[in-house]
Amino acid sequence: MSGLMETEVLIVGAGPTGLTVAVELARRGVPCRVVEERRLPRQSTRGCTVYQRTLEVFDAMGLPVDDYVAQGARMARRVYHLFGERIGTVDMAEPGSSRPYPLVVGQNVTERYLERRLADLGVTVLRGASAETVAQDDDGVTVTLRHAEGRRSTVRAAWLVAAQGASASIRDALGVAWREWRRFTGVRMLQIDARVHLPFALPPDEAHMFFGARGHVGCVPLPDGRHRVFVVRREPADGDDGRGDPEPAEIAAAMAPLCGVGEVRLSDGLFAWRVRLQNRFADRLRVGRVLLAGDSARVFAPVHAQGMNTGVQDAFNLGWKLAAVAADGAPETLLDTYEAERRPVFEELLARTERSLDFGVQEAPGREPLLAAIAANRPKRTQLAVDYPDSPLTRELLGGADGPAAGRRAPGRWDGRWTLLVLPGPRPDRERIRRLMTDVDPRVEVIVDVDGTRAGLAAPDAARIYLVRPDGHIGLRGGLEHGPQVAAYLDDVLGPVPRRTPSRA
Ligand SMILES: Cc1cc2nc3c(=O)[nH]c(=O)nc-3n(C[C@H](O)[C@H](O)[C@H](O)COP(=O)(O)OP(=O)(O)OC[C@H]3O[C@@H](n4cnc5c(N)ncnc54)[C@H](O)[C@@H]3O)c2cc1C
Repeated sequence: MSGLMETEVLIVGAGPTGLTVAVELARRGVPCRVVEERRLPRQSTRGCTVYQRTLEVFDAMGLPVDDYVAQGARMARRVYHLFGERIGTVDMAEPGSSRPYPLVVGQNVTERYLERRLADLGVTVLRGASAETVAQDDDGVTVTLRHAEGRRSTVRAAWLVAAQGASASIRDALGVAWREWRRFTGVRMLQIDARVHLPFALPPDEAHMFFGARGHVGCVPLPDGRHRVFVVRREPADGDDGRGDPEPAEIAAAMAPLCGVGEVRLSDGLFAWRVRLQNRFADRLRVGRVLLAGDSARVFAPVHAQGMNTGVQDAFNLGWKLAAVAADGAPETLLDTYEAERRPVFEELLARTERSLDFGVQEAPGREPLLAAIAANRPKRTQLAVDYPDSPLTRELLGGADGPAAGRRAPGRWDGRWTLLVLPGPRPDRERIRRLMTDVDPRVEVIVDVDGTRAGLAAPDAARIYLVRPDGHIGLRGGLEHGPQVAAYLDDVLGPVPRRTPSRA
């Protein structure tokens, strides 16, 4: 054993989840280290569909998102086919988002952008280092690392984030149950990046979905002219799952009867997967000083392309909380709100994944139910609608009023700080606004948004205040008279700070 490394937060795993947590800590000045057992960065494109909310989050984290978006393909539309007949087109634009379109880009590229942002913040991923054992006490966590060259070393950290993917040794070592939500027996999924040859051309900004008997096919445009092709189908009970990575010919043969449009050919196959379909979740997301995030916390069969997107959101939710507890003396109860907020999100997604998988391998899917399912999934897909209405961090003081309620994502761009947004209404009470601004907690930036443009909200007919959390969700909504509740809320969530003497007005 050689060398002791000490840090505030150790992150195990440099996938999208671990890298996002690390950026969120590093940009708040919290010392952290990331260890990754792979010696080289990821080469493959695995999780390639990046939804609107994730792009907004990357903006908030300070990634060069315009440049990143230029590396990918914009998904402008999705075209649906049923038994070979085109039955509908969905415009993928979300006008309520600063990033209205989903992006299709390799996971390798996403990780590269995250890792570069982290490096700019002064943190380098330690590669070829595998976390082997973990032990914790009241003050911290001790992890042994096995390095690629064979030596072992020790890391001591106050907190540990396990972002190891689905096969999370730390989760298992801590005895956290890894429960099966649903086993998808007899259903197979194959994926490949390849050039698709159909009797008609596929425009570069259109995804096509084909539903047939006992299965469906998706073709999602990649930036290099290939498509991410996936085939989900029911196999006979004695069906052979095949071995090794699937070849283009095997996948084309599986596609043809489901597409129902004539000859299907694939060429220039690059990465290919025989995907293990599993919906699983961890019993708890926090054990003392260890937190589980991303695929280590739950894993979805990738039918909705949400695993990586949700992992980034987990990490974005956890990052500011862990920074506040680790570095700024916030009470540890703040960390428990991570599970309280993210568990309902992943449970809904596990259930939706199950429904979609069952729906997508029916003997004879019907046109109306398919169109209804497409419409129902639409607002969920982008993750813009994810909210935390029942969170302990949510204080709604104007129940039933128009506009986004506490718990919802606040439209607009937020940069990771607490912000008190004041919308003065048509007859501004200048004195109360002045008092709000002078008495406010120093950890909060105040923005008076006269016409609602800063937050992308319509100007309300009465004054409103929104306390926006570092992750862009509304923590508290109230009126101008609720200044004292803002102070009490922040004391609760972050712990007390020395406050300026309140002005008398
Ligand atoms: C074929 C396919 C297509 C997909 N498509 C999409 C999609 O379009 N959109 C989407 O959102 N999701 C998609 N997903 C899911 C997505 O890829 C995962 O949800 C995502 O990778 C999870 O990120 P993570 O950081 O939590 O875990 P991972 O990406 O699995 O990263 C975990 C990291 O931890 C490292 N590690 C593990 N153990 C240790 C250890 N002991 N010590 C050090 N390091 C360790 C691993 O090497 C790995 O790099 C897809 C998945 C598959 C298989």
